[in-house]
Amino acid sequence: MSFVFTPPATPAVPVAGGGLFPVHRIYCVGRNYAEHAQEMGFTGREPPFFFLKPADAVLPVADGAIGEMAYPPLTANLHHEIELVVAIATGGRNIAAADAARHIWGYAVGLDMTRRDLQNDMKKQGRPWCIGKAFDESAPIAPLQPIARTGELTKGAITVSVNGAVRQKGDLSELIWNVAETIETLSKAWTLQPGDLIYTGTPAGVGAVVSGDLLEGFIEGLGTLKVRIK
Ligand code: MN
Repeated sequence: MSFVFTPPATPAVPVAGGGLFPVHRIYCVGRNYAEHAQEMGFTGREPPFFFLKPADAVLPVADGAIGEMAYPPLTANLHHEIELVVAIATGGRNIAAADAARHIWGYAVGLDMTRRDLQNDMKKQGRPWCIGKAFDESAPIAPLQPIARTGELTKGAITVSVNGAVRQKGDLSELIWNVAETIETLSKAWTLQPGDLIYTGTPAGVGAVVSGDLLEGFIEGLGTLKVRIK
């Protein structure tokens, strides 16, 4: 049997040094740094929870380039969330934290862009967050870097600045649920697959951007992701 129309291209993220990483799913961890959980009105001590973005929400930005993200519709409060992104090479279910590193292909600097006003409306009504989180171009991402080159990332500065002023500043060591624990918990609920990306959560300091703003996300050991809001 043939497809009734030409299937869309597989969403993909460039790899530093060449090649493309095909994206299967995008998992995101909510409230995974204590101070950010507190700024969102929570205690900072709760089991990890997850939401997803569609694979084609990625907005890949080439090394050294400035990505362009269209200001999305329906919002007047577009927020930045700088995050460490983990790319899965080897899938599985019920992966133990102690084995998690063997499943990691590599890492990237990513932004979990959020229509905060829409997300807050949905929260108030007890409805799904999709419209606030899972929109087109909501997942800007720098080129992936293989774990073979970076080693396992468990600490290091994570920051984002807007027009040169630092907005978010944290350290990967401050993750409430570290990457290995996140993979363990995620893989109890879903079968992880090669090509999955995990946005691991954001430190405190989330805030709004407007058209014309330049975001510069940085993670020690990975480099910089630059995105201009159109
Ligand atoms: Mn986030």
